[in-house]
Amino acid sequence: MHFHVLTLFPEMIDSGCDHSILKRAIAKDMIQVNAIDIREFSQDKHKKVDDYTYGGGAGMLMQAQPVFDAWKSIAGDDETKKPRTIYVTPQGQTFTQKLAKEFAKEEDLVILCGHYEGIDERVLDEIVTDRVSIGDYVLTGGELPALVMIDAISRLVPGVLGSEESAQAESFENDLLEYPQYSRPEVWHDKAVPEVLLSGDHKKIEAWRREEAKKRTEKWRPDLYKLYIERELTAKRLSKHKKDNAYMIDALLTGRAKLVFAWGEAAIAVSEGGTMVLLCCDNAAEGTELLAHLENDPEVILHNCEELNPILDEKYGFRVGDECFQSVYTQHTALPIAHKDIRPYPIDQIDYAVANYGGEDHRSYLLERMQSGEFFAAYEDGEIAGFCGVHGGGSLGMLYVDPKYRRSSIGSSLASYLVNWSLERGGVPYAHIRLSNIASLKMQEKMGLYVAKKHVFWTYK
Ligand code: SAM
Repeated sequence: MHFHVLTLFPEMIDSGCDHSILKRAIAKDMIQVNAIDIREFSQDKHKKVDDYTYGGGAGMLMQAQPVFDAWKSIAGDDETKKPRTIYVTPQGQTFTQKLAKEFAKEEDLVILCGHYEGIDERVLDEIVTDRVSIGDYVLTGGELPALVMIDAISRLVPGVLGSEESAQAESFENDLLEYPQYSRPEVWHDKAVPEVLLSGDHKKIEAWRREEAKKRTEKWRPDLYKLYIERELTAKRLSKHKKDNAYMIDALLTGRAKLVFAWGEAAIAVSEGGTMVLLCCDNAAEGTELLAHLENDPEVILHNCEELNPILDEKYGFRVGDECFQSVYTQHTALPIAHKDIRPYPIDQIDYAVANYGGEDHRSYLLERMQSGEFFAAYEDGEIAGFCGVHGGGSLGMLYVDPKYRRSSIGSSLASYLVNWSLERGGVPYAHIRLSNIASLKMQEKMGLYVAKKHVFWTYK
């Protein structure tokens, strides 16, 4: 991943990245940070980059021309390929872990740092794609916000954190803060480490950590806790018809989607990044009521109410792309896995997945799935024998087994691995199967998944 920072103080960026994990990631070429001095692009003989603001008022403003030319040195002349360009500003949307995850998927990210009173609005209008603030206070310049963002984003880039550090199960996953942690010695200042952590019983430890996470979130971040409880309660209500509502329950329990509005067994939620809307209801009237709460402009609406399709088409321009069965694992116990060597899929082997899962059209989707850590490979004698993954929406699938291993246990092991993976994350394992794919449906039933009465509809704009 490549960060290009447009700044008047490149040395601040360079020195901020010259320590610890960021320094190591740069040395290993996992990330590149390129600080570009805006002053170098000034056409003024004294390299001046600021001037008075029209209309009066205190302070100087960074002028459009040097900023634009510095940006052009990165963006090039191709108007159709504008890089994602973030202006760090107290006026932007607040930087969050969710936003960090979204930015971590970009290959190139331009970060524009303001100074003085800020930057001439005309150049911002032309080049900026996102305005991001690191909090409701005003700093003297954008360099510290840029470093904050580079740090938070980099640690989500695969490989940047070593095996001893982990970005899994940290604060803000699922709207909860992380549980308390302890290291040696066992007793310090007469305070003993909680006994359960020494028990070796992983189930009990998990349960204790979850309770502690809830307690501290309720105490220190009641705003987050409210979101968490709303999602949990809605998921519980929807669980009356667990099979029909599985995709929504799973998204709410795992934090994959943010609840927008719900009552009874009707709910509408929006995915991270806002491109996908999930909706579940029993009839067109409920569906219409839910759609009235739609604030963003999604690309996909997933729902389970056939009556709603004509309304989605006529009023919102969404057409059914796929009608699917929904198969759901309703138990809480993990499935046995015969083939043990299953691991996160190595990105440098992406060509194998591309060749066997949809071809070049699917490359960027596969890469995104691999980067999210939700795509897995089974190995036999050190080589990839098959793969499986979790779709962006949360359904399990993308199963492929190399012809050499079709008669082995690899296929069922990969499928069971996904089920267990989902259970471990507190989700409801489910898969969406096209109506024509009876073979896949049979395999799911054999594994102990139940097919819901209602079909699900993937509708697209
Ligand atoms: N006049 C601007 C306003 O009131 O919105 C504030 C300008 S500030 C003094 C100078 C620069 O610092 C901004 O252009 C921005 O790049 C950066 N900055 C200051 N506070 C920030 C924050 N909370 N988040 C992100 N960037 C910030």
